[in-house]
Amino acid sequence: MANRDEDWLAAELEAENLRLTNENLRIQNEHLKEQTLYYRDQNAELAGKRQTRENRHAKQEETLRINRARLAGLQKHCTHRKGGKGDDLVKNSGNDPNYSLIKHLMEWGEQMVKCTRCTAEWWPGDTAGNHPTGIGYEEALKLPTDNAASGAAQFRIDPNAVAKLRAGRLAQRGYAPDGKTKLGAAGAA
Ligand SMILES: [Zn+2]
Repeated sequence: MANRDEDWLAAELEAENLRLTNENLRIQNEHLKEQTLYYRDQNAELAGKRQTRENRHAKQEETLRINRARLAGLQKHCTHRKGGKGDDLVKNSGNDPNYSLIKHLMEWGEQMVKCTRCTAEWWPGDTAGNHPTGIGYEEALKLPTDNAASGAAQFRIDPNAVAKLRAGRLAQRGYAPDGKTKLGAAGAA
């Protein structure tokens, strides 16, 4: 009799064990499903955020491109001279014999020429071909002006750093460091 009771108990325990194991598996399965959904939602949210960021970046690039083109247009029309009537430098470009230019000696030894009307800048390496004004650096240096040149203290600087600055300025206008080769659409963006 005792044996039969023990057998019955053992069978009951085994059944209970199986039931619990099954339930645990079911819960684990549900948990995995929930986790999968959670990660899917998170991925979708991240993809959405990335898309928004990319759209914003593309819009900024486009605005920059338009502004650069507009400024280049103004600089092309500007006579870079003093005089003229009114404030509109495009319609009323100056006609004074003196140019509205300022020469500025940079800390690293380069001299820059800047038009105070259209903000065009000329740097060593700028040529008639690669500058929006159609005027090269050497020519701009020689244009007459009664503006005083401004200077800066000199200190030694790595020539590579100067080359890098030049390359950056040319790249902004869509030119390779040689100042002659047009960069592709990707490089100009
Ligand atoms: Zn100008």
